[in-house]
Amino acid sequence: MADKVNALPFFYGNITREDAEDYLRQGGMSDGLYLLRQSRNYLGGYALSVAYRRECYHYTIERELNETYAIAGGKSHRTPMNVIDYHSQESDGLVCLLKKPYNRPKGMQPKVGPFEDLKEKLIRDYVKQTWNLQGAGLEQAIISQRPQLEKLIATTAHEKMPWFHHTITRENSETRLQAGSRNNGKFLIRKRDNHGSYALCLLHGGQVMHYRIDKDKAGKLSIPDGKKFDTLWQLVEHYSYKPDGLLRVLTEPCPQPEGPNHGVVGGNGQRNLLEAAGGMISRFKSFSIPIPGQKKARSTSQTTPNDNQKNIYEFKGPNSAVVRESMPMDTEVYESPYADPDELRTSTVDRSQLFLEDGELGSGNFGTVMKGTYKMRKTEKTVAVKILKNDDNNPAVKEEMMREANVMQQLDNPYIVRMIGICEAENLMLVMELAELGPLHKYLQKHRQITMKNITELVHQVAMGMKYLEEHNFVHRDLAARNVLLVTQHYAKISDFGLSKALTEEENYYKAKGHGKWPVKWYAPECMNYFKFSCKSDVWSFGVLMWEAYSLGMKPYKGMKGNEVIQMIESGERMSSPSNCPPEMYDLMKKCWTYKAEERPGFMVVESRLRDYYYDIASQ
Ligand code: ATP
Repeated sequence: MADKVNALPFFYGNITREDAEDYLRQGGMSDGLYLLRQSRNYLGGYALSVAYRRECYHYTIERELNETYAIAGGKSHRTPMNVIDYHSQESDGLVCLLKKPYNRPKGMQPKVGPFEDLKEKLIRDYVKQTWNLQGAGLEQAIISQRPQLEKLIATTAHEKMPWFHHTITRENSETRLQAGSRNNGKFLIRKRDNHGSYALCLLHGGQVMHYRIDKDKAGKLSIPDGKKFDTLWQLVEHYSYKPDGLLRVLTEPCPQPEGPNHGVVGGNGQRNLLEAAGGMISRFKSFSIPIPGQKKARSTSQTTPNDNQKNIYEFKGPNSAVVRESMPMDTEVYESPYADPDELRTSTVDRSQLFLEDGELGSGNFGTVMKGTYKMRKTEKTVAVKILKNDDNNPAVKEEMMREANVMQQLDNPYIVRMIGICEAENLMLVMELAELGPLHKYLQKHRQITMKNITELVHQVAMGMKYLEEHNFVHRDLAARNVLLVTQHYAKISDFGLSKALTEEENYYKAKGHGKWPVKWYAPECMNYFKFSCKSDVWSFGVLMWEAYSLGMKPYKGMKGNEVIQMIESGERMSSPSNCPPEMYDLMKKCWTYKAEERPGFMVVESRLRDYYYDIASQ
């Protein structure tokens, strides 16, 4: 959504109410002249400024819980643009109809707020620090979890701001503010209790004023009778440009006794705050939030958490407890097992260090998959072990498994099940990362309350894994919901590389010698007609996988035989949309089912479409 709004010529970004009034005056103040700007107090919200009878009126467009937008108390609409269209026809509470947009002057871009500006760096440093990630793992973590990370940063970033002094007494805050420089506007925020009550302490004329900040039932923060904000960050930003009920604006953050001095920077409070935030970034290194179950902290003897525990983490900052959904990076299978070369030196697993547990995780044509533990040099890992049942000692069967292992060995991506190694003992065994919640389709059949946002998150992760395969010239050839395994409800990995092939530099497809035992309902027309397999035929299968996901694990082309499906596809017909499937996602499925491979999008495009849609619905 943010991108679409950014592209509107009458969207000014993070400008103040006063700036908006100046622009409307420049535009002539005709009745109904309007512009749109970013809300400076509601996360993800907008503000509409309208001229009427030489006055300016401002309306907040809030983003509601069900992903709609509305002027407080008004009718809900799908997008902020729809709100504007509606109020061009109906005043419905507005001072007048919206008549004419006042577009930004030529060459002017929407103003980026200080938080937006810093967000990228904050997120990067936060991920680096919290999960100890770098390189591709870091990038993939940010791409797959951006909406969650943005929210986390926005709501917890204050904890390391120089002006946030945690739980100190009123007297202590006065001592701190009176020490060193005693400029008007020097301030700090202290925590009063654990229920969201804070105090803004402000130095003015040598005296310290204390303003209570309370959290209302909806979680909004405000000083008594003041404007409401989603975050302390926004509150500080607001009062640093406008007193709005305070004795004066905030200018200079009071340094913490132990921290570096974030001294005065002339009279520009805003600049001062930004520099202070820059200081915060450099101090992020000391910002560590322990996460129960996190890979680094996890004790190997710890019992496996149940489904619910895996899906939600409570983590505590120095003075707060925040409950959030689990992220892939919280698990021990996010980071590559090859990251530490001292741990996994060869792809051969020593049988004496591999311990199998009773009970199967699953089974297939080759045999069974068991859960186990692999003791490495420094740590031990819970693993899945595919055990070849080859009673008649057929070398072809063994070869098949070795081929699968050979492909897996070349792949290293957080959204693909990684191989730990091969173990040749009583049976041939393929040791892999464990994805304990099992195949996606079965999980969805059992957990029908799952949200569209959650499904889209998982499907997007599969697209990220497939984009990686495309970039590295591999075709999967068996992409289906049954071969996507879940680590948690928020973390999917692609598995089963039994049919996969590495493509050569010269040819971007694999030509099968003849028909095999093929998953026909997942196969593109060129696979059936010419035995040709490419990343584009994987895209076709991905469309079927999307259909399975949005239909909560239903069988595609239910009740139809393989040749009936082929006829249906050849006649130009496609599966209809699963009920409740977002139209944007059904539209993408149909793109994946473009008949001609050369006209079908690749995973680069598919992942980007999914990412945009996911960010849209998840940035709620
Ligand atoms: P198919 O017969 O569909 O080709 P297969 O014989 O190649 O399958 P897999 O799909 O690799 O076997 O595994 C069979 C089942 O074992 C899976 O559906 C899943 O339930 C379980 N399983 C496989 N790998 C893992 C893993 N890494 N973590 C957890 N469970 C797994």
